[in-house]
Amino acid sequence: MPRILITGAAGFLGSHLCDRFIKEGYEVVGMDNLITGDLKNIEHLFKLEQFSFYNHDVSNFIHVPGQLDYILHFASPASPIDYLKIPIQTLKVGSLGTHNCLGLAKAKGARILVASTSEVYGDPTVHPQTEEYWGNVNPVGPRGVYDEAKRFQEAMTMAYHTYHGLETRIVRIFNTYGPRMRLNDGRVLPAFIGQALRGEDLTVFGDGSQTRSFCYMDDLIEGIYRLLKSDYPYPVNIGNPDEITIGEFAEEIIKLTGTTQKVIYKDLPKDDPTQRRPDISKAREILGWEPKVNRAEGLKITYEYFKSLPQEELYKKEHKDFEAYIRK
Ligand code: UDP
Repeated sequence: MPRILITGAAGFLGSHLCDRFIKEGYEVVGMDNLITGDLKNIEHLFKLEQFSFYNHDVSNFIHVPGQLDYILHFASPASPIDYLKIPIQTLKVGSLGTHNCLGLAKAKGARILVASTSEVYGDPTVHPQTEEYWGNVNPVGPRGVYDEAKRFQEAMTMAYHTYHGLETRIVRIFNTYGPRMRLNDGRVLPAFIGQALRGEDLTVFGDGSQTRSFCYMDDLIEGIYRLLKSDYPYPVNIGNPDEITIGEFAEEIIKLTGTTQKVIYKDLPKDDPTQRRPDISKAREILGWEPKVNRAEGLKITYEYFKSLPQEELYKKEHKDFEAYIRK
């Protein structure tokens, strides 16, 4: 049975990856320090012999006894609001955490896939974004702690590939959504759905003309699975190219939820990218992958998930204190 370590295992994507690799017959070792992850996302796995879990911060030296064939490094805060709350940890997990994972992969002779991001393109001047584009990142802005950590992660991963011959894979993940996102993580989709469920107005930042392209998590997980199995060591965009403005997206959520609330406009956060859409030619060509779930289907499933959560989840105020910082 192949054995895989998944960091960030209790998070949104990490937990879905655990499910997928269990299903594929792997022994899964999950690791998470539970800062933004939640054990509820993986509690169904604890009864399985194939699954084990370490509560550990991967920014510190990682010790995993026994063989490891694969490592997926998915530990990291992923919401801009989290970067403001825990900027140093965000920098550390993308840099030191990646270094520790690479060192572990080298020691075990494991293949490693690291979770990179469309944020390496910053506020992109090339549209849609191809993997060849170098990006437009403000290193000292509020997003710099994430963007630069992930850029360092890519450089470090390539160095281990080039100088140590390590088998590496790099996925650049674009906006992804689905069940197990945190309702209060501050990102636009849970924010809008949470507001609709609480009977509040939907807060569009700026004039709503900025664009994003949302990928349903099942599609993303399939893309990651295929990339891990491929022999391609360079970055690959995985995302859904179906681009929409945030203003239009708010209207879609209003329709989906049937809320009678309206859209209100707030200041645009600093360095908020004006446009984002993946060019997925590489993923199509190398992995034979493209997204299958359209936004209407994906949003419906995600809305049902959020509706099924206990009422108190709706009123957790974890991100509201940070609203003031976002507009500095
Ligand atoms: N956004 C918004 N209202 C909210 C939260 C976010 O209009 O309540 C906007 C945000 O300014 C950005 C887009 O939605 O332009 C996506 O934001 P998110 O935090 O989901 O992730 P990002 O793609 O910016 O990393």
